[in-house]
Amino acid sequence: MILITGGAGYIGSHCAINFLNAGYEIAVFDNLENGHIETINTLKTIGKVNFIKGDLKNREEIRNVFKTYNIDAVIHFAGYIEVTESVQNPSKYYRNNIIGSLNLFDAMVEFSVKYIVFSSTCSIYGDAKYTPINENHPINPINPYGKTKLIIENILEDYDKAYGIKSVCLRYFNAAGADSKIRLGETHSPETHLIPNILKSIFEEDKTFKIFGTDYNTPDGTCIRDYVNVEDLAQAHRLAYLYLQGNNKSDCFNLGSEKGTSVKEVFDTAKKITGKEIKYQNAPKRQGDTPILYADSSKARKILGWQANKTIEESIKSAYEWEKFLRQ
Ligand code: UDP
Repeated sequence: MILITGGAGYIGSHCAINFLNAGYEIAVFDNLENGHIETINTLKTIGKVNFIKGDLKNREEIRNVFKTYNIDAVIHFAGYIEVTESVQNPSKYYRNNIIGSLNLFDAMVEFSVKYIVFSSTCSIYGDAKYTPINENHPINPINPYGKTKLIIENILEDYDKAYGIKSVCLRYFNAAGADSKIRLGETHSPETHLIPNILKSIFEEDKTFKIFGTDYNTPDGTCIRDYVNVEDLAQAHRLAYLYLQGNNKSDCFNLGSEKGTSVKEVFDTAKKITGKEIKYQNAPKRQGDTPILYADSSKARKILGWQANKTIEESIKSAYEWEKFLRQ
């Protein structure tokens, strides 16, 4: 059985669908602080899902999962993910993300579970020294969120040397879009991410989309990111699991579309796809944002056989369908 921590969250739940579609039975461990019980109910209509409501900060709760189920591998998403909040409240991030991960990894050691795929981030690279960013780019996270992810990668490296735990760290760029059958999508509260915030400004009278920073050193002055479809990301986790089984060795991979798209370009594309005028205003830069990030994913292509197949247009379209579905 595959254990997915944070499987009621955005990327975790799409990953859960991917494993269910491939015929795996899964256990989802989630405290439902940011995940949703409706997501679990949806997953249960797709395949065999064992849901355990629990918190990784509680050692016994995660140990019990390994006692109860025969876990072959772990896909680890659970953690806080907001850059701005991590700058304002680093204690929350270090405590939750690091201690939670340690409890999980220690349970893996205790119950002899060898394989883990870890949800890491391109934030560990910090300000881009060059683009596209490959895995050899200097590592220098500039916010506590990115630092927690890097510390967890470092812990995994040491747990491999000492205890033989094999890990694949997947360094995502910006996850985007929704399940293509619109059963699941992105629902954070509060929502901080670009595409859902643009789309919510269509539906919500009192919401005006804010462009954070218009004087970055980029062609149109707004930040450039690499938006990679969430179903493509989900697929990478299964390929990473198969890689661990086949090669029994740890590694890390950048996952991106390998295309940089500015905030303004995403906004214009959303207007085109939805056919709507979208309320917006220019706003100050957001703390902890770096101007340009986009991926070189050639290593994932070569070694995992993974590539981003869906375009940003497809991601915006499914995200729009999901926002409509939420309001039915
Ligand atoms: N952004 C924005 N307005 C928003 C949300 C995000 O201008 O309401 C910008 C943000 O400053 C960044 C980009 O969109 O440059 C992507 O932000 P997001 O939070 O989606 O992902 P991140 O890159 O922080 O992981």
